[in-house]
Amino acid sequence: MFSVLKKLGWFFHREKRRYVIGVFLLILCGVLELAPPRLLGSAIDDIVSGSITWPSLTKYILLIIGFLASIYLVTYIWMHKLFGASNLVERLLRSRFMSHLLRMTPPFFERNRTGDLMARATNDLRSVSQTVGFGMLTLTDSTAYLAVIFLAMSTLISWKLTLAAIIPLPFIALAMKIYGRIIHERYTLAQDAFGDMNDQVLESVAGVRVIRAYVQERNDEQRFTDITNDVYKKNLAVAKVDAFFEPTIRLCVGLSYAIGLTYGIYLVFHNELTLGDLVSFNMYLGMMIWPMFAIGELINIMQRGGASLDRVNETLDVNPDVQDVANPVVVEGPNTIEFKDVTFKYPTSTINNLEHIDVSIRRGETLGVVGRTGSGKSTLLKQLLHEYPTGSGDIKISDVPIENISLNQLHGWIGYVPQEQILFSKTVRQNIQFGLQDASDEVIMDAIRTAAFDQDLGTLSDGLDTLVGEKGVALSGGQKQRVSLARAFIADPDILILDDALSAVDARTESRIINNIRTQRSSKTTLISTHRLSAVEHADWIIVLEKGCIIEQGTHETLLESGGWYREQYERQQVESGLTDEEV
Ligand code: ATP
Ligand code: MG
Repeated sequence: MFSVLKKLGWFFHREKRRYVIGVFLLILCGVLELAPPRLLGSAIDDIVSGSITWPSLTKYILLIIGFLASIYLVTYIWMHKLFGASNLVERLLRSRFMSHLLRMTPPFFERNRTGDLMARATNDLRSVSQTVGFGMLTLTDSTAYLAVIFLAMSTLISWKLTLAAIIPLPFIALAMKIYGRIIHERYTLAQDAFGDMNDQVLESVAGVRVIRAYVQERNDEQRFTDITNDVYKKNLAVAKVDAFFEPTIRLCVGLSYAIGLTYGIYLVFHNELTLGDLVSFNMYLGMMIWPMFAIGELINIMQRGGASLDRVNETLDVNPDVQDVANPVVVEGPNTIEFKDVTFKYPTSTINNLEHIDVSIRRGETLGVVGRTGSGKSTLLKQLLHEYPTGSGDIKISDVPIENISLNQLHGWIGYVPQEQILFSKTVRQNIQFGLQDASDEVIMDAIRTAAFDQDLGTLSDGLDTLVGEKGVALSGGQKQRVSLARAFIADPDILILDDALSAVDARTESRIINNIRTQRSSKTTLISTHRLSAVEHADWIIVLEKGCIIEQGTHETLLESGGWYREQYERQQVESGLTDEEV
């Protein structure tokens, strides 16, 4: 049950001082609280025996006030210490969680859904943080504080009476153990369901346009109702056990009172106890109610925190699918890129997605990758990012296998424009600056001109400062593509990868961009995949993929001569573009 505390051991160790002070003051507070009832009991005994005087009464009152004031102060400090810790652990774990996510590669995100990851980063971490603050409070109160009260009751008043009054305690412990186990199981299910719900909300909101267009609102509502019902039911199952805690404890406390009172009166009658003692004892019994509740709360919160921490750790324990090498080979620069008999398969795929790929290019050359949709173009280009564990064969950059190059160095060379553009909900300027931090407007404008975005910029309401909206919704598809291009151009990368990055621009803009690339990147390597062959006509080498294999390769001219897929496709596209030109 306390495994959660063990798992958080590093945190308690780190915040040792805070906890030593906090817990010590908490116990001190418990000790201080013992005084007022005892003083009251003595005062009553003085009254009963008739020995009370004004000065002694004043002394009692002043003492009680003094104790109350110090309890006030001490409580403030321990609360500050313990609950401060809970915010601290939340912050620590959350940053750790986030930096972990940033280290993860695509396969991880294929296995884990965003909504569930978000649930872990928010809901679950909140529950862990409660364990650290409120959990520590209940732990101290239900152990040390309870012990202090017992000690006071048995030494200051009567050990016989105390023993009798705590008979119901073991039952509390037993009941809590049983409830605790059930809570852990059910809470895990409830949090999992919450993760699913989060995911559904995220997908529905992100896909709301498609949902509307296909008139799927009702269906989506229905799906959401089902999933919220599921969350409701699973939380209800937790609440059902939760509800047992309080009555069980009330029952036991009530029993304690009954035993204490009956046996206490018996002892008073037999002169083993004074009336003042009995009053004090009953006040102590009253003080025991909270620690007993604390036992229940403790079990509850430890189990919830444990279930949540397990979920968070489950994510934190995943190693990146591609680990950085321990001793990377330092490569001066990417002079050659070479694929040698490369066969690759996605972790979830049953067939090879690339087979026996042999191709090489030198610095300054351009490689064109074409082929029908799903043939493996993106897969081939992404090999250079080393996001997936490599397959068989060798991918070498400047004769060094890609596995031996540090990921930072590798990614530092590459400018990548993915097939699906990803823009951040910031301004156009900030999105482009992503490629080169603190780039001046002049440099940004250069990149924008290369990407042929300069004319569009004039039509945007605030120019460079236009907000592109979430995921770039405020831009057209072609504009988004060109902002992504500018982001890649601005860093003037050694290797530029354009994955179908010109698909949404018209033919004329495309040829302008291609011309810019040719003139500006004559000494750098460029890899372009495309469906429109005009974008790779100029390439030094072109490969045609089919089901992950190279079926044709050569330059534009030799490929046309050989009369295969490339030629057929090229002629078809020539006819089509001829038609559209005539229309214009
Ligand atoms: P397009 O022209 O449509 O962009 P493409 O040539 O770029 O197609 P790829 O995206 O490389 O095609 O996909 C090649 C094959 O790999 C496809 O059959 C696809 O289903 C599969 N595939 C792509 N990504 C993954 C993935 N993450 N996990 C498993 N299989 C994948
Ligand atoms: Mg693709």
